[in-house]
Amino acid sequence: MGRLVMKFGGTSVANIERIQNVARHVKREVDAGHEVAVVVSAMSGKTNELVAWCTEASPMHDAREYDAVVASGEQVTSGLLAIALQALGIQARSWQGWQLPIRTSDAHASARIVDIDGSEIVKRFGDRKEVAVIAGFQGINPETGRITTLGRGGSDTSAVAIAAALKADRCDIYTDVDGVYTTDPRVVPKARRLDKVAFEEMLELASQGAKVLQVRSVELGMVYNVPIFVRSSFDKPEDIDPHGTPPGTLICSEEKIMENHVVTGIAFSKDEAQISVRRIEDKPGVAASIFGPLADANINVDMIVQNVSEDGKTTDLTFTVPASDFARAKQTITSAQDKIGYARFDSETDVAKVSVIGSGMRSHAGVAAQAFAALAARNINIRAITTSEIKFSVLIDAAYTELAVRTLHTLYGLDQV
Ligand code: ADP
Ligand code: ASP
Ligand code: MG
Repeated sequence: MGRLVMKFGGTSVANIERIQNVARHVKREVDAGHEVAVVVSAMSGKTNELVAWCTEASPMHDAREYDAVVASGEQVTSGLLAIALQALGIQARSWQGWQLPIRTSDAHASARIVDIDGSEIVKRFGDRKEVAVIAGFQGINPETGRITTLGRGGSDTSAVAIAAALKADRCDIYTDVDGVYTTDPRVVPKARRLDKVAFEEMLELASQGAKVLQVRSVELGMVYNVPIFVRSSFDKPEDIDPHGTPPGTLICSEEKIMENHVVTGIAFSKDEAQISVRRIEDKPGVAASIFGPLADANINVDMIVQNVSEDGKTTDLTFTVPASDFARAKQTITSAQDKIGYARFDSETDVAKVSVIGSGMRSHAGVAAQAFAALAARNINIRAITTSEIKFSVLIDAAYTELAVRTLHTLYGLDQV
């Protein structure tokens, strides 16, 4: 007997028929003798609809009320799944974040989980063999008593955090693809499924745009050593061999991975905006005068390029911010023009970041140089570059994203044969 957390994403609970299919997946694990906590997302498209309603009601809405609205999608699916499980003769009860509770910070719309009380759930595993169906994405701030949400894609984080709190043997993430691929399989049909991915690599893939797992869920998996298994909810529950290994990807520590490729995968993000602040005075403190106010405004700056000054007097500074923060970033910098002291503000919002990830880069030189040559051969201009130990990223025109990803996927031998 083991203890499992099973998480089902939006497409997996998109309608009643799919929720009934999920119930059969859960029954399969219960019948195999496991204690099960299920975490559900809202029906696909629901959260987008709820977000749009908030914006329509008022573009500058109160984040606390936004959370009250958007958390409701998961309330519906958790109740529906409990009903579907009961219809199969399984003891089940739904739980909202505040009922456990799942305690979080008060950063509304992007709250962080502080701790989870799983004691009642564990008690019920023992007393009545009851399955817990937990609404993902939401929690409560204990000081204010208000509902919070964990940021888009946050149900993954709910699931891994609950697995850690319940000391579960595994956290299964059921989604609409049967694992983590070398890149988004919807964009590159030749992408290959990976059997295992190290936490560090998955962290980079997720933070550079592979939305199959929310970044924070991978961080928690790494810190609490929760093995995360990404698999498909579309496999028929009846066809799954309870003793076999289903298709999927295990996210685990690096030591457990025998095969080491130089490049593991490619991620991309079109949610980028490039800003250039031209002819700033080249003196100590200018970078701080630009990035300080951006940090104060909670805007994440990513790639930064500062030119070497030609005349020793002025220089240009180029950097990227998430596209959703562009308007605020522009306002922050232009309103401080006199204080910073620059001549011109330039920007480009039709840009994309393509990132190549692989722990093998630690020991192989020239990996990035190959990419620059391959992109040049395709006439793709690189606007900015950043590198870290196991990753490098290039910023390009958004129109070339798919071409660049496919070119690099082939270059590093990732195509399916
Ligand atoms: P869920 O609703 O189950 O949480 P998401 O839509 O959040 O599902 O994440 C699954 C999607 O992630 C897939 O449909 C796929 O298009 C996308 N994706 C991006 N990069 C990858 C990758 N490297 N491997 C697998 N899926 C990826
Ligand atoms: N429903 C939320 C969203 O769409 C959380 C999730 O699906 O993980 O972002
Ligand atoms: Mg998701």
